[in-house]
Amino acid sequence: MQATTRDLNLLNIQKKVQNNERLTKSDGVSLMNCNDLLFLGGLARYIKNKKTKNHVYFNVNRHINLTNVCVSRCKFCAFSCNKNDPDAYTMTVEEAVKTALDAPKDITELHIVSGLHPDKPFHYYVEVIKSLREKLPSVHLKAFTAVEINYFSKISGMCVEEVLKILKDAGVDSLPGGGAEIFNPKVRNEVCPKKATAEEWLNVIRTAHKLGLKSNATMLYGHIETLEDRIDHLIKIRELQDETGGFQTFIPLPFHPENTKLSHIKKPTGIENLKMIATSRLMLDNFDHIKAYWIMIEPKVAQFSLDFGADDIDGTVTEEKITHAAGAKTDKFIEKNELINLIKEMGRVPIERDTLYNVVRLYE
Ligand code: SF4
Repeated sequence: MQATTRDLNLLNIQKKVQNNERLTKSDGVSLMNCNDLLFLGGLARYIKNKKTKNHVYFNVNRHINLTNVCVSRCKFCAFSCNKNDPDAYTMTVEEAVKTALDAPKDITELHIVSGLHPDKPFHYYVEVIKSLREKLPSVHLKAFTAVEINYFSKISGMCVEEVLKILKDAGVDSLPGGGAEIFNPKVRNEVCPKKATAEEWLNVIRTAHKLGLKSNATMLYGHIETLEDRIDHLIKIRELQDETGGFQTFIPLPFHPENTKLSHIKKPTGIENLKMIATSRLMLDNFDHIKAYWIMIEPKVAQFSLDFGADDIDGTVTEEKITHAAGAKTDKFIEKNELINLIKEMGRVPIERDTLYNVVRLYE
């Protein structure tokens, strides 16, 4: 970890990282503005190696999106539609179970996120989970963003804690962590005014952690937010992690503009994605894992990101719909062997994990 820059600010950050000191907002902004990629990557890699050695995680999973009908219609979303649109769909409980049963037999996780349907009652979601739990007792059910949980609370008239308890009893094992977008209220109000507020998102996650449900955390960047907004977002997540310790991994999600109401915006470049991953690794000192979501940043950048602080490359996925609706050119599925090779090519040891980061298999 050699500082190759004369920028005193960066040298100061390097010192802090070496001394295990927490980075400030202005440190985070300086990291995002740093064009010395080798320096930035080296610093983030230093922390990654301290936390997870030479290991890189992935899992074998399937995505299920129960419906694309959504009352929120966020400006950055190309997946959602109104219920009478020709592309609208909503799975029955039986269809959701069939989709899960058709998945490869070695999946350890179902990742279930959906639109906020105007008519489906909370009971429907509980039934889906109960049925999946019955048919696939050993598969981890990572289901519902904090935004969905908040919506279920509104449509059922129950408090967030009650909703979470019912879902947990039905079979939900953890929460995926989506829907965080950007916490800055002005930006949030501009890009997703109908969605749960930042406080509501954080409250759902805090409650879930209190009930013993782990979650991930996300951030959607590269639309109309500033670099300061991104760092503020990371700091809010870091503060909640200090409080609960319930986050497993942080997943920075670059905005994909195609087919959205923000299609005039250019999507973040590969370099910007690498900087965001490295900065996340350095700011989130209380997170064990940083994920490079290959679907959104493309497998090659995800591979590079393993030298920029990421230690997780997500999963085989099977049928990703949300980012592909926004024009993602990646496959909707990746073979396990391909993930293993991507990791090995970077000189790292691939570890197939379950959702809670227990080792399923190590590929030395
Ligand atoms: S991002 Fe989620 S909440 Fe927003 S419109 Fe799309 S599906 Fe609905």
